[in-house]
Amino acid sequence: MIYAANFKTNHTRASTHAYVEKLNSALSAKKPEDKVYIFPPTTAFDHYEGDFTIGVQNAHEAYNGAFTGEIGVEQLDEFGIRTIMIGHSERRGILRKSQDQVIEKFSYFEKEGFEILYCIGEPLSIRDIGEDAVYRYLKAQLNGIDISYEKLIVAYEPIWAIGTGRSATVKEITTVHKELKAMINRPLLYGGSVNLKNIDEIRSIEEVDGVLIGSASLDAENFSKMILGS
Ligand code: PEP
Repeated sequence: MIYAANFKTNHTRASTHAYVEKLNSALSAKKPEDKVYIFPPTTAFDHYEGDFTIGVQNAHEAYNGAFTGEIGVEQLDEFGIRTIMIGHSERRGILRKSQDQVIEKFSYFEKEGFEILYCIGEPLSIRDIGEDAVYRYLKAQLNGIDISYEKLIVAYEPIWAIGTGRSATVKEITTVHKELKAMINRPLLYGGSVNLKNIDEIRSIEEVDGVLIGSASLDAENFSKMILGS
């Protein structure tokens, strides 16, 4: 299983150090095949050590240059970061990134050989129309993306389940993951209000290869408990 923590705009470098220290003591008990990712804010980057991978929540598609307010590969190289999240719904929605911009970023970081955690997910208005509309929407978000990229991980995150406390049901996750798995031969994570109470049933779904966790990952002990299981 893959366990990815998305800190979003939470935590500082000091609190991330404290987090990593707590997480490391728990991770010695994790299953060897489990893989853990942490996506802290970029100001928290440092040379962390442990059985996890640090990724970046976003970066500009350039090595360096005149891109005020952005960071590029040069800044990521300083911390040895080779994993990037692309297409998160908060970037698509709040930060108004179009599919074309997402594709451009994906292509650049694929060429750079980064591992890419690519997020897709439908809004409630699409879910309310029905399953076929959901599949069409998700397929459009895979348009222009090299879904055979060997360093690709996909996360299905229905927008109505993110940060709302309302996770998709086991049935909803299973049907969407089955549909996506028929198209993509890469690890497929579920994200959206995964927490200590629902993680066991979510990880027991055959088509779920891991979870992307926001709110419930912010506390190291909570995230550790989710990884280690009951
Ligand atoms: C996310 O933003 O990727 C996410 C899954 O958030 P939450 O767990 O808080 O729903």
